[in-house]
Amino acid sequence: MAMLKIKNLSVSYGAIEAVKNVSFEVNEGEVVTLIGANGAGKTSILRTISGLVRPSEGSIFYLGNDIQKVPARKIVAEGLAQVPEGRHVFPGLTVLENLEMGAFLSKNKEENKLNMKKIFERFPRLEERKNQDAATLSGGEQQMLAMGRALMSKPKLLLLDEPSMGLAPIFIQEIFDIIQDIQKQGTTVLLIEQNANKALSIADRGYVLETGKIVLSGTGQELLASEEVRKAYLGG
Ligand code: ATP
Repeated sequence: MAMLKIKNLSVSYGAIEAVKNVSFEVNEGEVVTLIGANGAGKTSILRTISGLVRPSEGSIFYLGNDIQKVPARKIVAEGLAQVPEGRHVFPGLTVLENLEMGAFLSKNKEENKLNMKKIFERFPRLEERKNQDAATLSGGEQQMLAMGRALMSKPKLLLLDEPSMGLAPIFIQEIFDIIQDIQKQGTTVLLIEQNANKALSIADRGYVLETGKIVLSGTGQELLASEEVRKAYLGG
């Protein structure tokens, strides 16, 4: 069964139709990527899935249920977490406090502690800096913190919005390694990326979005090899 199924989704902002009749699905255990240029509608799709934007048409099924009318908070409780574009860590709070915020729906302190330990194992840099103000972390570290915070809710499905944006190459590789690791631990991932090369090389499947429409789909390897993708997104 598809973990996430998007059917004929359209999103408009006034007269601007940002997403046009888009359908795709994410199966349990997969990393699926949506790639596309600036303004293609990637973020709009993610924000619609997590309930922050209402679609003008179409439906969104998560674990078999239509979640369109479900409030964002409840969607998180059902195991769907999002790391927004631009990270958005909470400034003025330490790394530890930011991570704790990620578990705000869970009352089980022991489980939260264990989960925090796992997150520190995955992101040793965060443990080293756990008492530091989150605002003083580097961009790559903030991305790790935002991902760690989302993982504190123990998501079944993790939505990542351009995690590599603005990062140095060394951090980019690390972030993609971590995404693969997250998949290995059993979390399904929907990855929005402009870095088509990296995203497709770790993705099981991918969709190419152009001005609000899906124009191509296939396995990560098929899309990497596709002439159209190479010309438009991989510079060759
Ligand atoms: P990027 O990679 O640059 O973040 P994107 O593929 O995520 O782009 P979206 O952010 O979904 O694209 O934007 C799709 C289109 O919708 C753009 O033309 C954008 O200007 C428009 N748009 C997005 N949010 C709004 C809004 N709140 N009000 C009006 N127009 C919007």
